[in-house]
Amino acid sequence: MGSTASKSPEIDAEVTLSLPDGVDAEQLTPAMRQYWEHKKQAGDAILMFRMGDFYEMFYDDAELAARVLGIALTSRDRGKTPLAGIPHHALETYLSKLVVAGYKVAISEQMEDAKHAKGVVKRAVVRVVTPGTLTDEALLETNRSNVLAAVCEDGERFGIAAVELAAGEMTVTSVARESLADELNRIAPSEILLPEPDGVGRSPLEALIRERVGTPITYRGELEFAAERAGELLRRQFGVASLEAFGFERVDASLRAAGAVLAYLNETQRTALEHIRPPRRRSVTQYLELDTVTLRSLEVERTLRGNAREGTLLSAVDLTRNPMGARLLRRWLCYPLRDVAEIGRRQDVIELLRGDDGARDAIRGHLHDIGDIERRTARIAVKRTNPRELRAMGDALNELAPLRMALRGLAMRALDGLAERLEGLDELADRLCEQLERSAPLAMREGGIFQSGRNAELDRLRVVGRDGRQWLANYQARELERTGIANLKIGYNKVFGYYIEITHAHRERVPDEYVRKQTVKNAERYITDELKRFEGEALSAESRANDLEYELFQGLRAETAAFIPKLQDAAGALAELDVLAGWAELAVRRDYCRPEFVDEPVLEIEQGRHAVVEQSHEVRFVPNETRLIAGGDSCGLITGPNMAGKSTYIRQVALLTLLAHCGCCVPARRMRLGVVDRIFTRVGASDELARGQSTFMVEMLETANILHNATRRSLVILDEVGRGTSTFDGVALAWAITEHLAKCGCRTLFATHYHELTELAELLGPVFNLNVEVREYEDRIVFLHRIVAGAADRSYGLHVGKLAGLPAAVLERAGAVLNELEKTFARESQRPALAAAQRRRQRQLRLFDEPEEAIVRELRETACGEVEPAAALELIRKWRGKLGADEARAGGP
Ligand code: ADP
Repeated sequence: MGSTASKSPEIDAEVTLSLPDGVDAEQLTPAMRQYWEHKKQAGDAILMFRMGDFYEMFYDDAELAARVLGIALTSRDRGKTPLAGIPHHALETYLSKLVVAGYKVAISEQMEDAKHAKGVVKRAVVRVVTPGTLTDEALLETNRSNVLAAVCEDGERFGIAAVELAAGEMTVTSVARESLADELNRIAPSEILLPEPDGVGRSPLEALIRERVGTPITYRGELEFAAERAGELLRRQFGVASLEAFGFERVDASLRAAGAVLAYLNETQRTALEHIRPPRRRSVTQYLELDTVTLRSLEVERTLRGNAREGTLLSAVDLTRNPMGARLLRRWLCYPLRDVAEIGRRQDVIELLRGDDGARDAIRGHLHDIGDIERRTARIAVKRTNPRELRAMGDALNELAPLRMALRGLAMRALDGLAERLEGLDELADRLCEQLERSAPLAMREGGIFQSGRNAELDRLRVVGRDGRQWLANYQARELERTGIANLKIGYNKVFGYYIEITHAHRERVPDEYVRKQTVKNAERYITDELKRFEGEALSAESRANDLEYELFQGLRAETAAFIPKLQDAAGALAELDVLAGWAELAVRRDYCRPEFVDEPVLEIEQGRHAVVEQSHEVRFVPNETRLIAGGDSCGLITGPNMAGKSTYIRQVALLTLLAHCGCCVPARRMRLGVVDRIFTRVGASDELARGQSTFMVEMLETANILHNATRRSLVILDEVGRGTSTFDGVALAWAITEHLAKCGCRTLFATHYHELTELAELLGPVFNLNVEVREYEDRIVFLHRIVAGAADRSYGLHVGKLAGLPAAVLERAGAVLNELEKTFARESQRPALAAAQRRRQRQLRLFDEPEEAIVRELRETACGEVEPAAALELIRKWRGKLGADEARAGGP
């Protein structure tokens, strides 16, 4: 459904159809005319046109489907019309292949039984399946949310609306241009709606999304994003007179995006969307900010190398037992909190569940059995639920009562709140389980859905059907006796219905009123009036019973739909409980501790471990200490040989900080920290080359972002900055960058192989040195992975080369070259070379420009009219003095 899609779902008999060359509108059969009408409605989607037991695709769609799905391409009309079809029961499988391959599919269903149709069978496009609007269980990833987003520009800011159709949740947010890609990557939508660009070629917005987000884009008309239309759609959807009802003062860009999302859902789903809840505003400052680079380099949900889930933070801390919890966990990790009270509430629940193994096991057991209430609820809302699923919902809801008991047994306020949200659904659970068969079928029109004793008419019709069998047995016995034909049998086939079969040997004894219908190998088949009468009644009873069951099922679905808000609230509570119970389990299994949030801007970790490396390691992970104070000892420089564990250490600190803000416990003995507003990382950029940017350029872009945006509240992790250029350039840049960060006062860890930088610790108060302990054993080195104070004494590059198996001759030659180099660049008087030079120049350079700043401040504060000439002269003398005694003397009177 793109810009070419028709905006009206109704069929207009007079529409002009855009037919391919060689197809004549006059010559179209009624069914093909209908096909082309639906094709027009489908826009850029592939149209699957239901014909009997098949969904057929024609022309280009057929060719494309044959290629993508690997199905046979045939043709009709003597080869003129390419055709490919799939059996109706295999729809989901094929749909999923097409959607995964990035296509949209419109489904045109038969709306009446072909047998009863007068003329061409009535059909309608019932929905359009697109990557961002999935609800079918088979098409969705169990543990991942499927989100549709829309972006709307408003000057320098962008409104984003994101909806999860399979959950009914909508959030809106507004971001600055430079944060747009980062925010979209955090939302991770499967499809993005953009207003159609007015000019030719790509809009800058499209270019940005294609390059930095990579999600498929669907264009919608500019009007779909209009404020008036959005306001009206939102008010209608949520049944309110004014949007102030949900705290919105005006229709801003984010609500205009929300309007575009709703319009698209209406068009693709073509059904009620009663489960979509009013939009919630997500403010950027509510959460610890994590940009795309940081999410990737910390491997929060995907690994850098294999783009896999295994080996990520997400998989290391996911002990959820329910898909709703698994999906929420991802969201919580990508949106860590800044509000200490809210973090504390999560921590309290975890602590309580951690302390009671029995209750925790029981709760997690129930959560597992409950299954995915959230997505089942959505399918009820969009009328795509089946009898088996509705019965499963009943069984799931039956688990709520024992779960509430387990929660109440723990006697804690926060849990009471969760338990309350699980109330009010018991009656519905009973009703569904009493009414529906335990093994209710997937199909809705073939009966077998309801238990007996629930509906008198249904029971009566079923008795007619069942009694029919008895009647047939009696009839057979009676006829057998009357005719004396011992092997007289009653059978049934689709062509003649019920018949009496008599072998040729007994042909003479067949009564006159038997009418012969068919001769088979050894026998003749007959029908009688009585048998025909019976058949009429029995068969119609069965089909009437099936119709009635279908109707009753629709009624029960509608009754359940009345509980949607309650079901969604319960689903939300279950998801939260699942994440928290999983984290409590994690804390027990892996000995995590509860971090303590304090007002001071510190970051202290005792015996910290890397959450992911610790789990994947065969050898014991060596715990480490951390102590950073914003504005104090804020900037730790870590030196040491390659492979010592520098990267692991600095990432570990970032990961623990992130987990702490999610409310999760952390792998450490103790952690104390002040809230962090943003985590910045700049680490190895191995995969950027593939994206066509030079590694060094990427390094500098990422660093520039950090230097511009880090605040005193941020945590900055730098791994080897300046490596992609010449040594002198590299050292110079790394030096200046460190100075800048030290001045900012943000908590910083910088792993570097530039030994020269360690001298900064002598010059700048905030900077201190750390290194990773190694032992030399004969001519080998042993990594102890322990972070200790002080600079590394040398860089051990040759040792690592040896470890990696460089040829002995090369190592020997490198040793000789190194010797020469060290002689040439020997430092005078054994003092740190750069620091000595820096100190010499310090007066001219004035690292922090402090005297000038003070002088300028005083100048500003001095009102000219109020200063006597003599006092003014005195001031000038003082300022000159501040700038340096020599200068003052030289210029003195
Ligand atoms: P560097 O950044 O100094 O080159 P890495 O951080 O990449 O080193 O670590 C090198 C290896 O040492 C990795 O295989 C890592 O798993 C292991 N390692 C790092 N830190 C520890 C630790 N604290 N305990 C045990 N193994 C560690």
